[in-house]
Amino acid sequence: MRACDPTLHPLHPVFAMTYAPRADPVKAGGDRSCMTHAIHAVLVVEDDDDSRDALVALLEAYGCVVCEAVDGKDALEQLRDGYRPCSILLDLTMPRMDGWEFREQQRRDPELSHIPVALLTGAANAHLYARRLGAEAVTKPVDLNAVMTFVENRCAGMTL
Ligand SMILES: [Zn+2]
Repeated sequence: MRACDPTLHPLHPVFAMTYAPRADPVKAGGDRSCMTHAIHAVLVVEDDDDSRDALVALLEAYGCVVCEAVDGKDALEQLRDGYRPCSILLDLTMPRMDGWEFREQQRRDPELSHIPVALLTGAANAHLYARRLGAEAVTKPVDLNAVMTFVENRCAGMTL
């Protein structure tokens, strides 16, 4: 588990210095590139250690800078401390604060509501849940292509 800090915001000068775009970025699943960032900052909110570790490893292999939260409360605290990821990958069933409650709180906060969210869920109703929460769905088991399509198409950096 890593704590996040505001310098992980892609527009923060420290981030730009630390994570300068690579000449030859790591790519998976075809030739994709972000309109705004060479590297996306993604927050993974997942209580299951194995699932979280696996997803983080995949995202990092693709070249994303990833922060992790063990539940909705943890995620909300990191965001309220100033961390601004391009997008959030959100599990639904978690202790302390589940994905539903997290999304409700996030949408109510004008500082945070613009950050796009994809639900990580194996539920048959995934797309219904997503619509209800104003989010997208990436069904479990996680398909990296689906995750990266979400991260790149919805990157909050594009609206800045
Ligand atoms: Zn981005």
